[in-house]
Amino acid sequence: MSGTVLVFGSINTDLIVYVARLPHPGETVTGGTWDSYPGGKGANQAVAASRAGADVAVYGCLGDDSFGKDRLASLAATGISTAGVRVRSGARSGVALIMVDSEGENTIAVAPGANMQFEADGVDIPTVPSGEIWVSLFQNEIPRDTTEALIVKTKLAGCVVMWNIAPTIGRRPGPEVLRSVDYLVCNKNEIQALVGSEESFEDQAKVPLAWGVKNVIVTLGSKGSFWLSSRGMHRQAAFPVEAIDAVGAGDCFCGVLAASIASGSSVETAMRRASAAAAISTTRRGAQPSMPTSQEIEDFLRSRGT
Ligand code: ADP
Repeated sequence: MSGTVLVFGSINTDLIVYVARLPHPGETVTGGTWDSYPGGKGANQAVAASRAGADVAVYGCLGDDSFGKDRLASLAATGISTAGVRVRSGARSGVALIMVDSEGENTIAVAPGANMQFEADGVDIPTVPSGEIWVSLFQNEIPRDTTEALIVKTKLAGCVVMWNIAPTIGRRPGPEVLRSVDYLVCNKNEIQALVGSEESFEDQAKVPLAWGVKNVIVTLGSKGSFWLSSRGMHRQAAFPVEAIDAVGAGDCFCGVLAASIASGSSVETAMRRASAAAAISTTRRGAQPSMPTSQEIEDFLRSRGT
Protein backbone atom coordinates (compact mmCIF):
# COMPACT_ATOMS: atom_id res chain seq x y z
CA MET A 1 0.00 0.00 0.00
CA SER A 2 1.51 3.33 -1.01
CA GLY A 3 -0.62 5.73 1.07
CA THR A 4 -1.56 9.34 0.40
CA VAL A 5 0.07 12.50 1.72
CA LEU A 6 -1.54 15.93 1.33
CA VAL A 7 1.00 18.72 1.88
CA PHE A 8 -0.23 22.23 2.69
CA GLY A 9 2.69 24.64 2.59
CA SER A 10 5.25 26.87 0.96
CA ILE A 11 6.66 26.60 -2.53
CA ASN A 12 9.77 28.72 -3.15
CA THR A 13 12.70 29.13 -5.47
CA ASP A 14 16.13 29.30 -3.84
CA LEU A 15 18.58 31.56 -5.70
CA ILE A 16 22.08 30.86 -4.43
CA VAL A 17 25.17 32.96 -5.17
CA TYR A 18 28.48 31.37 -4.17
CA VAL A 19 31.07 34.04 -3.35
CA ALA A 20 34.58 34.04 -1.84
CA ARG A 21 33.28 36.08 1.09
CA LEU A 22 29.96 37.60 2.12
CA PRO A 23 29.59 41.32 1.29
CA HIS A 24 29.25 43.87 4.08
CA PRO A 25 26.22 46.21 3.92
CA GLY A 26 26.74 48.62 0.99
CA GLU A 27 29.54 46.50 -0.52
CA THR A 28 29.56 44.54 -3.80
CA VAL A 29 31.50 41.29 -4.08
CA THR A 30 31.93 40.05 -7.66
CA GLY A 31 33.35 36.89 -9.20
CA GLY A 32 30.69 34.55 -7.83
CA THR A 33 28.75 31.74 -9.48
CA TRP A 34 25.08 31.04 -8.96
CA ASP A 35 22.49 28.29 -9.01
CA SER A 36 18.75 28.01 -8.62
CA TYR A 37 16.94 25.19 -6.77
CA PRO A 38 13.30 24.46 -6.04
CA GLY A 39 12.67 25.07 -2.33
CA GLY A 40 10.15 25.94 0.39
CA LYS A 41 9.42 23.58 3.27
CA GLY A 42 6.08 22.46 1.83
CA ALA A 43 7.54 21.57 -1.56
CA ASN A 44 10.65 19.98 0.00
CA GLN A 45 8.54 17.70 2.20
CA ALA A 46 6.22 16.87 -0.71
CA VAL A 47 9.20 15.76 -2.82
CA ALA A 48 10.61 13.69 0.07
CA ALA A 49 7.25 11.94 0.57
CA SER A 50 6.80 11.33 -3.15
CA ARG A 51 10.29 9.85 -3.62
CA ALA A 52 9.63 7.65 -0.56
CA GLY A 53 6.68 6.14 -2.42
CA ALA A 54 3.56 8.08 -1.35
CA ASP A 55 0.88 9.48 -3.64
CA VAL A 56 1.34 13.19 -2.93
CA ALA A 57 -0.84 16.22 -3.58
CA VAL A 58 0.49 19.67 -2.74
CA TYR A 59 -1.67 22.67 -1.81
CA GLY A 60 -0.13 26.13 -1.91
CA CYS A 61 0.00 29.45 -3.65
CA LEU A 62 2.28 30.75 -6.42
CA GLY A 63 2.48 33.98 -8.42
CA ASP A 64 1.88 34.09 -12.17
CA ASP A 65 5.57 34.73 -12.85
CA SER A 66 8.22 32.54 -14.45
CA PHE A 67 9.30 31.16 -11.04
CA GLY A 68 5.74 29.97 -10.41
CA LYS A 69 5.57 28.21 -13.78
CA ASP A 70 8.92 26.51 -13.10
CA ARG A 71 7.79 25.31 -9.67
CA LEU A 72 4.53 23.85 -11.02
CA ALA A 73 6.50 22.05 -13.71
CA SER A 74 9.15 20.68 -11.34
CA LEU A 75 6.55 19.38 -8.84
CA ALA A 76 4.55 17.75 -11.64
CA ALA A 77 7.75 16.19 -13.04
CA THR A 78 8.28 14.54 -9.63
CA GLY A 79 4.81 12.97 -9.95
CA ILE A 80 3.14 15.27 -7.41
CA SER A 81 -0.42 16.49 -8.00
CA THR A 82 -0.52 20.29 -8.21
CA ALA A 83 -4.29 20.62 -8.72
CA GLY A 84 -4.46 22.23 -5.24
CA VAL A 85 -1.92 24.94 -6.05
CA ARG A 86 -3.48 28.32 -6.74
CA VAL A 87 -1.83 30.83 -9.04
CA ARG A 88 -2.47 34.46 -8.01
CA SER A 89 -2.36 36.91 -10.88
CA GLY A 90 -0.08 39.87 -10.29
CA ALA A 91 1.62 38.18 -7.31
CA ARG A 92 5.27 37.18 -7.02
CA SER A 93 6.19 33.59 -6.20
CA GLY A 94 8.19 33.00 -3.02
CA VAL A 95 11.96 33.40 -3.32
CA ALA A 96 14.91 32.85 -0.96
CA LEU A 97 18.06 34.84 -1.80
CA ILE A 98 21.01 32.94 -0.38
CA MET A 99 24.69 33.88 -0.37
CA VAL A 100 27.23 31.22 0.55
CA ASP A 101 30.93 31.96 1.12
CA SER A 102 33.94 29.69 0.67
CA GLU A 103 33.66 28.50 4.30
CA GLY A 104 30.02 27.48 3.82
CA GLU A 105 28.77 30.43 5.92
CA ASN A 106 25.55 31.89 4.53
CA THR A 107 23.07 34.74 4.71
CA ILE A 108 19.47 34.18 3.63
CA ALA A 109 16.69 36.66 2.84
CA VAL A 110 13.24 35.22 2.15
CA ALA A 111 10.40 36.98 0.32
CA PRO A 112 7.40 34.66 0.86
CA GLY A 113 5.35 36.44 -1.82
CA ALA A 114 2.27 34.46 -2.89
CA ASN A 115 2.78 31.88 -0.10
CA MET A 116 1.28 34.45 2.29
CA GLN A 117 -1.82 34.75 0.08
CA PHE A 118 -2.75 31.10 0.67
CA GLU A 119 -6.22 31.15 2.24
CA ALA A 120 -8.13 28.18 3.68
CA ASP A 121 -11.45 29.34 2.19
CA GLY A 122 -12.38 27.26 -0.81
CA VAL A 123 -9.83 24.51 -0.19
CA ASP A 124 -11.78 21.36 -0.88
CA ILE A 125 -10.76 18.33 1.18
CA PRO A 126 -12.45 15.09 0.14
CA THR A 127 -13.45 12.65 2.89
CA VAL A 128 -10.80 9.95 3.30
CA PRO A 129 -12.15 6.71 1.77
CA SER A 130 -12.63 3.95 4.34
CA GLY A 131 -9.68 1.57 4.56
CA GLU A 132 -7.19 4.20 3.35
CA ILE A 133 -4.69 6.27 5.34
CA TRP A 134 -4.18 9.88 4.29
CA VAL A 135 -1.69 12.04 6.14
CA SER A 136 -2.13 15.83 6.00
CA LEU A 137 1.26 17.51 6.47
CA PHE A 138 1.82 21.12 7.58
CA GLN A 139 4.72 23.47 8.36
CA ASN A 140 4.83 27.21 9.16
CA GLU A 141 5.66 29.06 5.96
CA ILE A 142 2.09 30.02 5.00
CA PRO A 143 -0.33 32.18 7.05
CA ARG A 144 -0.79 30.67 10.50
CA ASP A 145 -4.60 31.04 10.32
CA THR A 146 -4.63 29.03 7.09
CA THR A 147 -2.55 26.26 8.65
CA GLU A 148 -4.75 26.07 11.74
CA ALA A 149 -8.02 26.10 9.77
CA LEU A 150 -6.79 23.34 7.46
CA ILE A 151 -5.47 21.24 10.36
CA VAL A 152 -8.99 21.16 11.80
CA LYS A 153 -10.60 20.66 8.36
CA THR A 154 -8.36 17.75 7.33
CA LYS A 155 -8.83 16.10 10.73
CA LEU A 156 -12.60 16.25 10.25
CA ALA A 157 -12.14 14.74 6.77
CA GLY A 158 -10.44 11.74 8.38
CA CYS A 159 -6.74 12.54 7.80
CA VAL A 160 -3.90 11.73 10.18
CA VAL A 161 -2.60 15.25 10.91
CA MET A 162 1.16 15.89 11.10
CA TRP A 163 2.44 19.39 11.93
CA ASN A 164 6.11 20.22 11.59
CA ILE A 165 6.28 23.46 13.59
CA ALA A 166 9.17 24.90 11.53
CA PRO A 167 10.08 27.73 11.50
CA THR A 168 9.13 28.22 15.15
CA ILE A 169 5.66 29.33 16.16
CA GLY A 170 5.30 32.19 18.61
CA ARG A 171 1.83 31.72 20.00
CA ARG A 172 0.32 28.56 21.42
CA PRO A 173 -2.38 27.12 19.14
CA GLY A 174 -5.97 26.97 20.39
CA PRO A 175 -7.41 23.79 21.97
CA GLU A 176 -9.36 22.63 18.89
CA VAL A 177 -6.20 22.83 16.78
CA LEU A 178 -4.08 21.03 19.38
CA ARG A 179 -6.63 18.23 19.75
CA SER A 180 -6.61 17.78 15.96
CA VAL A 181 -2.85 17.18 15.77
CA ASP A 182 -1.84 13.51 15.68
CA TYR A 183 1.91 14.14 15.27
CA LEU A 184 3.76 17.31 16.27
CA VAL A 185 7.27 17.17 14.77
CA CYS A 186 9.95 19.68 15.78
CA ASN A 187 13.66 20.11 16.34
CA LYS A 188 15.17 21.09 19.67
CA ASN A 189 14.91 24.85 19.02
CA GLU A 190 11.30 24.63 17.92
CA ILE A 191 10.13 22.65 20.98
CA GLN A 192 11.96 25.14 23.22
CA ALA A 193 10.28 28.11 21.47
CA LEU A 194 6.87 26.46 21.83
CA VAL A 195 6.94 25.36 25.46
CA GLY A 196 9.86 27.26 27.06
CA SER A 197 12.61 25.80 29.21
CA GLU A 198 12.15 22.51 31.02
CA GLU A 199 14.64 20.15 32.65
CA SER A 200 15.11 18.03 29.53
CA PHE A 201 13.90 17.57 25.94
CA GLU A 202 11.65 14.77 27.23
CA ASP A 203 10.04 17.11 29.75
CA GLN A 204 9.55 19.69 26.99
CA ALA A 205 7.87 17.10 24.77
CA LYS A 206 5.40 16.21 27.56
CA VAL A 207 3.91 19.71 27.45
CA PRO A 208 2.15 19.48 24.02
CA LEU A 209 0.87 16.03 25.08
CA ALA A 210 -0.77 17.67 28.08
CA TRP A 211 -2.31 20.24 25.68
CA GLY A 212 -4.02 17.46 23.69
CA VAL A 213 -1.53 16.60 20.92
CA LYS A 214 -1.40 12.79 20.53
CA ASN A 215 2.27 12.24 19.63
CA VAL A 216 5.37 14.43 19.80
CA ILE A 217 8.49 13.64 17.76
CA VAL A 218 11.63 15.69 18.46
CA THR A 219 14.62 15.57 16.10
CA LEU A 220 18.09 16.17 17.56
CA GLY A 221 20.31 16.37 14.45
CA SER A 222 23.16 13.83 14.56
CA LYS A 223 21.88 12.73 17.99
CA GLY A 224 18.78 11.18 16.37
CA SER A 225 15.17 11.63 17.42
CA PHE A 226 12.62 10.47 19.95
CA TRP A 227 8.87 9.89 20.01
CA LEU A 228 6.73 10.55 23.05
CA SER A 229 3.09 9.53 23.40
CA SER A 230 0.80 8.47 26.23
CA ARG A 231 2.10 4.93 25.55
CA GLY A 232 5.67 5.89 26.37
CA MET A 233 8.95 6.84 24.75
CA HIS A 234 10.85 5.46 21.75
CA ARG A 235 14.33 6.59 20.71
CA GLN A 236 15.77 6.39 17.21
CA ALA A 237 19.54 6.86 16.83
CA ALA A 238 20.81 8.81 13.83
CA PHE A 239 22.66 6.70 11.23
CA PRO A 240 26.34 7.69 11.18
CA VAL A 241 27.27 9.15 7.78
CA GLU A 242 29.80 11.59 6.31
CA ALA A 243 27.44 14.58 6.35
CA ILE A 244 28.32 17.42 3.98
CA ASP A 245 25.08 19.46 3.89
CA ALA A 246 22.33 19.22 6.52
CA VAL A 247 20.05 21.62 4.59
CA GLY A 248 16.70 19.90 4.20
CA ALA A 249 17.42 17.05 6.66
CA GLY A 250 14.41 18.02 8.76
CA ASP A 251 12.20 18.33 5.66
CA CYS A 252 13.38 14.93 4.44
CA PHE A 253 12.64 13.39 7.86
CA CYS A 254 9.09 14.83 7.92
CA GLY A 255 8.23 13.89 4.33
CA VAL A 256 9.40 10.30 4.73
CA LEU A 257 7.78 9.99 8.17
CA ALA A 258 4.45 11.08 6.65
CA ALA A 259 4.83 8.72 3.67
CA SER A 260 5.62 5.79 5.96
CA ILE A 261 2.71 6.45 8.36
CA ALA A 262 0.42 6.77 5.30
CA SER A 263 1.65 3.38 4.05
CA GLY A 264 0.53 1.78 7.32
CA SER A 265 3.94 1.48 9.02
CA SER A 266 4.28 1.56 12.80
CA VAL A 267 5.72 4.79 14.22
CA GLU A 268 8.95 2.94 15.08
CA THR A 269 9.38 1.73 11.48
CA ALA A 270 8.43 5.17 10.12
CA MET A 271 11.08 6.84 12.32
CA ARG A 272 13.74 4.35 11.20
CA ARG A 273 12.96 5.03 7.51
CA ALA A 274 12.79 8.80 8.10
CA SER A 275 16.16 8.74 9.91
CA ALA A 276 17.78 6.68 7.15
CA ALA A 277 16.40 9.01 4.48
CA ALA A 278 17.50 12.15 6.37
CA ALA A 279 20.99 10.67 6.89
CA ILE A 280 21.27 9.98 3.14
CA SER A 281 20.10 13.54 2.41
CA THR A 282 22.94 15.01 4.50
CA THR A 283 25.48 13.29 2.24
CA ARG A 284 24.21 15.27 -0.78
CA ARG A 285 23.96 18.98 -1.56
CA GLY A 286 20.73 20.95 -1.71
CA ALA A 287 17.28 20.20 -0.30
CA GLN A 288 15.03 18.69 -2.98
CA PRO A 289 17.86 17.16 -5.07
CA SER A 290 19.09 15.33 -1.95
CA MET A 291 15.82 13.48 -1.16
CA PRO A 292 16.33 9.70 -1.63
CA THR A 293 14.00 7.26 -3.39
CA SER A 294 12.31 4.41 -1.51
CA GLN A 295 14.77 1.99 -3.15
CA GLU A 296 17.73 4.01 -1.87
CA ILE A 297 16.21 4.06 1.63
CA GLU A 298 15.67 0.26 1.59
CA ASP A 299 19.21 -0.37 0.25
CA PHE A 300 20.69 1.91 2.92
CA LEU A 301 18.78 0.17 5.73
CA ARG A 302 19.86 -3.23 4.40
CA SER A 303 23.50 -2.07 4.23
CA ARG A 304 23.24 -1.01 7.88
CA GLY A 305 21.81 -4.39 8.86
CA THR A 306 18.39 -3.12 9.97
P1 ADP B 1 16.31 20.29 11.28
O1 ADP B 1 16.95 20.22 9.93
O2 ADP B 1 14.83 20.53 11.21
O3 ADP B 1 17.01 21.16 12.27
P2 ADP B 1 17.58 18.00 12.55
O4 ADP B 1 18.89 18.69 12.38
O5 ADP B 1 17.15 17.65 13.93
O6 ADP B 1 16.37 18.78 11.85
O7 ADP B 1 17.67 16.66 11.64
C1 ADP B 1 16.54 15.87 11.38
C2 ADP B 1 16.96 14.42 11.35
O8 ADP B 1 17.92 14.24 10.30
C3 ADP B 1 17.65 13.91 12.61
O9 ADP B 1 16.74 13.43 13.58
C4 ADP B 1 18.50 12.76 12.04
O10 ADP B 1 17.70 11.59 11.89
C5 ADP B 1 18.88 13.29 10.66
N1 ADP B 1 20.21 13.95 10.68
C6 ADP B 1 20.47 15.28 10.80
N2 ADP B 1 21.80 15.52 10.81
C7 ADP B 1 22.40 14.31 10.68
C8 ADP B 1 23.77 13.86 10.63
N3 ADP B 1 24.81 14.73 10.71
N4 ADP B 1 24.00 12.54 10.49
C9 ADP B 1 22.98 11.64 10.39
N5 ADP B 1 21.68 11.99 10.45
C10 ADP B 1 21.38 13.30 10.60
